[in-house]
Amino acid sequence: MSYHIGVISGDGIGPEVVAEAKKVLDTVADKYGHEFEYEDILMGGCSIDATGEPLTDHAIAQALASDAILMGSIGGNTQTSPWYQLPADKRPEAGLLKLRKSLNLFANMRPAFLYNELREACPLRDSVIGDGFDMVIMRELTGGLYFGERSTEEVDGVLLATDTLTYSEPEIRRIAIKAFEIARKRRKKVTSVDKANVLDSSRLWRGMVEEVAADYPDVSYEHMLVDNCAMQLVRNPGQFDVILTENMFGDILSDEASMVTGSLGMLASASMNDTKFGLYEPSGGSAPDIAGKGIANPIATILSAALMLRYSFDLDEEAKAIENAVQKFLEDGYRTIDIMPHGEEEAAKVTQVGTKEAGDLICERI
Ligand code: NAD
Repeated sequence: MSYHIGVISGDGIGPEVVAEAKKVLDTVADKYGHEFEYEDILMGGCSIDATGEPLTDHAIAQALASDAILMGSIGGNTQTSPWYQLPADKRPEAGLLKLRKSLNLFANMRPAFLYNELREACPLRDSVIGDGFDMVIMRELTGGLYFGERSTEEVDGVLLATDTLTYSEPEIRRIAIKAFEIARKRRKKVTSVDKANVLDSSRLWRGMVEEVAADYPDVSYEHMLVDNCAMQLVRNPGQFDVILTENMFGDILSDEASMVTGSLGMLASASMNDTKFGLYEPSGGSAPDIAGKGIANPIATILSAALMLRYSFDLDEEAKAIENAVQKFLEDGYRTIDIMPHGEEEAAKVTQVGTKEAGDLICERI
C-alpha cells in the first residue's frame, strides 16, 4: 500500500527526531512492502521565519491532502526567542492551535507507559509502582476553556479578565466514543474525570459519558473528580487504563502522567478526528536547550509513527514491530542521555547513544 504522509519537522530538536522516525518508517516499508511518501509542511517558528505566519493556508491545504501527519515539535525558548515578542496569534503555538481546529482534531491520546528497564527513572517509590502502569489519557482538544470567549476589560478602575468554559453534547459524545473505542482495544476500563461537584460543564460531561457508556457494556467505567485523579496518579497509577477528560484537565493530567513515567522523551501522542486521519507527535516540546547537539531522544517520535501506522493506516503488525524494536533497544542496554541511569555503577551497565545512533539501532531491530 502507498501512504502520503505530511511531515511537520518544526523547530528545535523537531527535525532531528523526525529524521529518525522517517528512517524507521522506511525500514518498515522495505520489510512489509509498503510505500511511504513524505511531503514537508512548514509550521511554527520556521514558518514564521519563512512566511511571517506560524501556519499558512497553503500548509493547511497540504495537511488536509495528507493521509496522516507526522510531527516533531514547534516553538523556541519562550524567554529569549524573538518569536515570543510577536502578538499571541502570530507565535509558533498559534500555528498548532489553528491546525488542530482546521483539521478538527478533537481527540488527543497520550499513552503513559512504564518500561521496566526505566523503572529507576520513575520518581515514585517501588511499592507505589507495583507491577508498573500502562494507561492512555484521552483529552478533548478543541473545546473548553482554551477555545472559549475571553476578554480583559477595566471595570470601575479595576482590570477584570474572563475566560469561558463551554461544552456541547456532541463535543462530549464524540470524545467519549473515542475513549470507549480505545478502551475496547485495551483493558476495557474508562475513568472519566471531571469537576461535577462544582461545574455545570462537568455535570453535562458526566451525563453524556453515562449515555455513551450504555453502548459499551463490555467496557467498565467510573467517574473521578479531577483533584482526586491528580492524587491517584501518584498514589496508585496502576489502576488506570483509559482516562477520559476535557481540555484543560487533560492538559495538566497528561503532563503529570508523563512525568511519573520519568521519561518524557519516550512518550508518543496522537490527535485524531472522527475519520482515520491523525496528527502524531512526541509528547515533549522542541527542547531548544539541546537542539542541534545530536543527543535528543527520538523514541517518542518513533513511537508516534507506530501509533500512526496502527490508528490511521490499520497496520497493527507493523506498529507492533516498531514497539518491539524499541523494547529490544532498551533491553540491549542502549540509552539516550535523558534516560541514562543516575548512579555511576548503573550507568556503567548501559551504553549511551546519540539521536542518529538510536534511530539506526532501532531500525536494526525491526
Ligand atoms: P520541552 O519538552 O521542550 O523540554 C523540557 C525538558 O525536557 C528540556 O530539558 C529538554 O531538553 C527535555 N526534552 C524534551 N524532549 C526531549 C527529548 N526528545 N530528548 C531529550 N530531552 C528532551 O519543554 P519546554 O522547554 O517547556 O518547551 C520548549 C518549547 O517547546 C516551547 O517553545 C514550548 O512552547 C514548545 N512546546 C511545543 C510542543 C509541541 O510542539 N506540541 C509541546 C510542548 C512544548
